[in-house]
Amino acid sequence: MVVRRDSAVGEQGSGGGEKVAKAVKRASVRKAATSAQASKQAAPEMPAQPAKPRQAAKPTQSVKPTKPRKPPKNESRTALVRRARRINRELAEVYPYAHPELDFENAFQLLVATVLSAQTTDLRVNQTTPALFAKYPTPEDLAAANPEEVEEILRPCGFFRAKTKSVIGLSKALVEEFGGEVPGRLEDLVKLPGVGRKTAFVVLGNAFGRPGITVDTHFQRLVRRWQWTEETEPDKIEAAVGSLFPKSEWTMLSHHVIFHGRRICHARKPACGACPIAPLCPAYGEGETDPEKAKKLLKYEKGGFPGQRLNPPQTYLDAGGRPAPPLGAG
Ligand code: SF4
Repeated sequence: MVVRRDSAVGEQGSGGGEKVAKAVKRASVRKAATSAQASKQAAPEMPAQPAKPRQAAKPTQSVKPTKPRKPPKNESRTALVRRARRINRELAEVYPYAHPELDFENAFQLLVATVLSAQTTDLRVNQTTPALFAKYPTPEDLAAANPEEVEEILRPCGFFRAKTKSVIGLSKALVEEFGGEVPGRLEDLVKLPGVGRKTAFVVLGNAFGRPGITVDTHFQRLVRRWQWTEETEPDKIEAAVGSLFPKSEWTMLSHHVIFHGRRICHARKPACGACPIAPLCPAYGEGETDPEKAKKLLKYEKGGFPGQRLNPPQTYLDAGGRPAPPLGAG
């Protein structure tokens, strides 16, 4: 699969790329429409449907930045549920290959990788774990490991002493309390050293097929921008967002939101002008609204660059995504 490094949107092999390309066009059109409307009325309401393309606005046009869109006022619970589910459906079309971005082959590897991912990127974890799992493939192996040797392997992940303690500690707990198997219940997982609800839901959702919402930093930021909840604590966010969706959608919802946060809706410079859900977003305008400038902010496969996994799923490769390089290779 050949992916051009300078590709931004509309170059993916799947419908997701087309979706973003259409969104760029829509965002451009909407910006022009909003500018015209602003001269007539001070507080435009958020449209329920994406703006229809008009001849007057083209993605390449230079358009003056618009003011941030006003948040939906007095949005009813029903309207919120509809908008939230629509955002998730749109994101599912943009990221049909959404997946956990940690490389793993079994529940033990996913558990360890998720613990290691604290305070670092999934890419760095993925570049580190091949050596770890080659030397310590089972909980028994890691439980009996020399901590100094594990520390050396985990050094690139940062906080390597604390992380060494956690992964050896949880391996010992798996051996002593669960027969060397990763338990498939939330209440058991959260008792393991270094394992909180977020880690537990990642493991349950992706290694056991049990629905879970992963409230990481991207998820927290995006659901606040979308005004799905005003809660600030992860547990409360998890409950509030969970109530908007059927349980069966929780795991993929988490992937969609996190993918969007990593690729388009960044913390500091969200690429609003290239965002496929801009018409549904109360925070449109927090970031770059010019479509051409926004396209330059896109990351990973949307910006033509490698993803985070060294061994991504085939759907991702089929869609034009590229594997990340191993440690030291780039
Ligand atoms: S990129 Fe902009 S428009 Fe898109 S979800 Fe983020 S804040 Fe909203």
